[in-house]
Amino acid sequence: MSKIVFFCIPAHGHTNPTLGVVRELVRRGHQVWYYSYEPLRRKIESTGAIFIPCDDYDGELHLKPEETARIGKDLTLSTRVLVDTTLALDDVVCRAMEQLQPDCIVADSMAVWGKAVAMKLGIPFVSSTTTFAFNEHSARVMKRSLGEVLGMLFSMPKVNRQIKRLQENGYPVKSVLDILQNDDHTHTIVYTSREFQPCADTFSEQYYAFVGPSLRPVQEEITKTREKLIYISMGTVNNDMLPFYRECIAAFAKSTYQVILSTGDRITPKDLGPLPENIMAVPQVDQIAVLQKADVFVSHCGMNSVNESLYFGVPLVMLPQTPEQSGVAERVLQLGAGEKLPKRSAAALAAAVEQVIHEPRYAANAQALAGGLRNCPGAKGAADKILQLCGEEKE
Ligand code: UDP
Repeated sequence: MSKIVFFCIPAHGHTNPTLGVVRELVRRGHQVWYYSYEPLRRKIESTGAIFIPCDDYDGELHLKPEETARIGKDLTLSTRVLVDTTLALDDVVCRAMEQLQPDCIVADSMAVWGKAVAMKLGIPFVSSTTTFAFNEHSARVMKRSLGEVLGMLFSMPKVNRQIKRLQENGYPVKSVLDILQNDDHTHTIVYTSREFQPCADTFSEQYYAFVGPSLRPVQEEITKTREKLIYISMGTVNNDMLPFYRECIAAFAKSTYQVILSTGDRITPKDLGPLPENIMAVPQVDQIAVLQKADVFVSHCGMNSVNESLYFGVPLVMLPQTPEQSGVAERVLQLGAGEKLPKRSAAALAAAVEQVIHEPRYAANAQALAGGLRNCPGAKGAADKILQLCGEEKE
């Protein structure tokens, strides 16, 4: 039996894909400890892992509200938060790992404290990457905007100051890329297919396992009440978008389509007022159940949402909110499985949905990608990769 420790950031989108993997490891008789945050406790414990809360050490908790909104968009601030969290956890996690002697550490690519402690103590390490695998080739293809690249360069001295703080505490990191980038010699699990990953052939078979989305079992039955079903969700993080939800209602109130709108729990049904009979708005839906019936997905292009959509061959209308989501949207566009919303208005949304529903090439391209995603080895493949590093035989 192996002892495996997971680390993740406080985000559903980064946690969900790991749950099936943990369940599979536990099913095979291994012991899993999962360092995460209280809001995720229930889902983590339901896998059979031992949950260890990190809430007291979360660098994001000490931010001003205006700073919180910049996380993920501002590299200096994001690195500072990651380094703060790493150093806050340093002592307690290092002591725990020395006592536990895990066979392997698996950390989300953003939970740098997991990778850092593995590097510091020389414990075998697997990166769990819920976005695309990232190297100089894929970054180039994803066409990072010039402004973003310049922003990155200018913020480097400040970022490097943060890296120095890590070095002073015994972490063998040379640059921010050491932590954030998956180099070609880090064992990495990527929750998409090689077909969807840009420049997949630049990521070695030996180190990279493209395992595909780890889909949750369906919990709800969704009834299709009209010929076409439009599903709309802006994910679980930046979903406080009442004006956009109002545009969605205006766009489809008089249409023949059934609309399911997932608003997130910051919006109450009262905020939206009375809804037409064809539109249902709820804080959260069983997205896997809905996508099995949907004809088009209006999405913020979180990596999980897009993988799930393509897995069921559902084409997308895309409204990315962060650079990472723009990268995912760019890839969908390249592969012809959706269109970006050119501007935010009810009319533009109605037109984009109309185009994607009625031109069969979008659904055909999404279906082609579904094939690759369905052929991925899934949670079992991810578990094999982790156990290989623990020195266990393949099941
Ligand atoms: N999700 C869900 N129901 C909802 C909205 C989202 O089950 O009403 C799930 C969705 O299936 C996906 C995750 O939440 O697995 C969202 O992850 P994603 O990476 O798409 O976006 P994020 O929330 O991280 O921005």
